[in-house]
Amino acid sequence: MGLFWDLPKIVSWWENLVLVVLVLGSLGAYRRLLVQAKGATTQEGRPCRPCGVRVEGRDHHCVWLGLCVSSANHRTFLLLLLLLLLSSLHLSLLLTSAACPGEVLGPVLLPKACWPYSPTKCLLLVGGLYSGVVAVCISLLLVAQLLQWRRRSRGGLVVAKEEKD
Ligand SMILES: [Zn+2]
Repeated sequence: MGLFWDLPKIVSWWENLVLVVLVLGSLGAYRRLLVQAKGATTQEGRPCRPCGVRVEGRDHHCVWLGLCVSSANHRTFLLLLLLLLLSSLHLSLLLTSAACPGEVLGPVLLPKACWPYSPTKCLLLVGGLYSGVVAVCISLLLVAQLLQWRRRSRGGLVVAKEEKD
């Protein structure tokens, strides 16, 4: 039980500060996303069954966040993904380096390089590895969203060019 409350003593103050800033930034981006999602509901847009409304420029319904991602909040969605990626990456490095001091990326790349015997440090290492897995999943999602966004913006450019010609 003491591990969670002892965490600020294990890692330095600036590492804690970076994590708190990233988490607060993520919460702020999520709140903004909610407001923008409510503002995108119209009578003519594409229907979303889980939300029960029509959404202008609807991209997809995010089951993790429970809201529609559309052209109105796509940039904020990408920002939230980036902040969550940085948070989980930072937490992963923070926990693994606390469990295995002096080996920053070693435990992530090669779990055999460091396997502490203390139960507290084992818990820190496993938490760090799980956080790394979350970071990889979020980065895949972010890359897929960026590729989709690029394809759409190129499609938009082609349409604009055709209209110009
Ligand atoms: Zn929806």
